[in-house]
Amino acid sequence: MVENEKAFPVKIGLEVHGYLDTVEKLFCMCRTESAERLEIRDSKLENDANSRICPICTGTPGSKPMAANEEAVRKMIQIALVFGSKINMDGLVWQRKHYDWADNPKGYQTTMSGAHAKVNALGGKFKGIEITEIHLEEDPAQWNPDSGRINYNRSGLPLIEIVTEPQFSDSDQVVQWLKSLLLSLSYIKSVRKNAGIKVDVNVSTYGERVEMKNLNSLEKIRKAIDYEIARQLEIVEKLEIRGQKLEEVLPRETRAYDEAKGITIKMRSKEGASDYRFVPCPDLAEMKISKKMVAEIKASMPEMPEVKLERLLKTHNVLESDAKILTRNLELVDFFEALVAEGIDAKKNMAWITVELLRVLNWNKKSLEDEDVDIRPSHLAELIKAVEMGGITTLKGKQIMNDFVPKSFSLKEHKGEISNIDEEAVENLCRQVIDENKHVVDDYRAGKEASLNFLIGAVMRLSERRADFKVVTGVMKRLIGERDDGV
Ligand SMILES: [Zn+2]
Repeated sequence: MVENEKAFPVKIGLEVHGYLDTVEKLFCMCRTESAERLEIRDSKLENDANSRICPICTGTPGSKPMAANEEAVRKMIQIALVFGSKINMDGLVWQRKHYDWADNPKGYQTTMSGAHAKVNALGGKFKGIEITEIHLEEDPAQWNPDSGRINYNRSGLPLIEIVTEPQFSDSDQVVQWLKSLLLSLSYIKSVRKNAGIKVDVNVSTYGERVEMKNLNSLEKIRKAIDYEIARQLEIVEKLEIRGQKLEEVLPRETRAYDEAKGITIKMRSKEGASDYRFVPCPDLAEMKISKKMVAEIKASMPEMPEVKLERLLKTHNVLESDAKILTRNLELVDFFEALVAEGIDAKKNMAWITVELLRVLNWNKKSLEDEDVDIRPSHLAELIKAVEMGGITTLKGKQIMNDFVPKSFSLKEHKGEISNIDEEAVENLCRQVIDENKHVVDDYRAGKEASLNFLIGAVMRLSERRADFKVVTGVMKRLIGERDDGV
């Protein structure tokens, strides 16, 4: 039976919504959250509901939208260039997509998609998956169904929607692709990383496509896809027993993923474009994109992760495994390159970044892109140079680095002694440790080699890691190797 079994035909397509990283909203001059974060780093942003609003983004009658934010348009073009999509230059008419919901005070969402729309860009490819289209649209407000409160800070934020062809075949492929996508978009700094993404996933097997809306984490996306494929497979397997037709059991519909239960639930039969009553927005002029603008953006596009990886291998001669760790995060690879520019030998000192820096950040549950983290490559360079010159020990260097989060400092600003202690001081410390641990010394002399490590460790701690490990080992061996240690 097994060999006759046909592969289950799974086709998965995505609609990825990301927040464009702009200073202002799409049709008004209200600040976006990312702009605000930079200004008030320490204030509690959770308590700022409805602090970045105006008559336009709250849909006050009589208000009219301003022309679309050019920064958002530029970022959309950057994304289109990453995919190699065909950018539509004119005939771009904003559409009103009508629906009634508490989060939508105007009764419509302004978008570049819809029944009569010419979308911003068509086609292109990313990591083997074809892109159907990309377009700009505004985000609705945030409605809390429990409290009934509406926060308009989100209303009017510029969103990019990326639609793919249904070319994925399982959840793993989708998650890996989305990770690559987010990394590439972070390299062009086009999408707000902290804001996350919202993804609509459509899955079709034997029947019509089933759409799952608003999945906002990779984990949820994975679980929802796996559940939905299994659900459809089960239905198809029981089809003959029930005597039903495929279109009856797998109709086109929209389902919601219930995270707590781990299942998808039918929300509604899939709406057609006509349900949204798309009409051109009379308040906004046709949008035009000049060739000059596209050429300008093209010329200033930063390196994509793969290109950067190749260059790291070539110019810095680093290991591929290290280059992969670095290029997984733009801030980290930028940090690395800044460190090299400070005159640090990349290959020799790689562990200071890929091991030590990441260790300290992870320990503090921080990352380089966090607003409150300020670690300067120049400070780490100074530290590495001091270690290389032998002025401070590697262990002391690592200990100083522990204090580099959230803010690094110059060694000159470091309070307390940090420089290496000399051999005479080491010997004094060794004698002290021997004196305080006579039984351990006896163990060593009786043949227990491991006791030596204990004694050396004690000296290193006493010296506050300013003693050179090799020197301590040598001195300690010499002292306890003698029958009469002279104490
Ligand atoms: Zn506004």
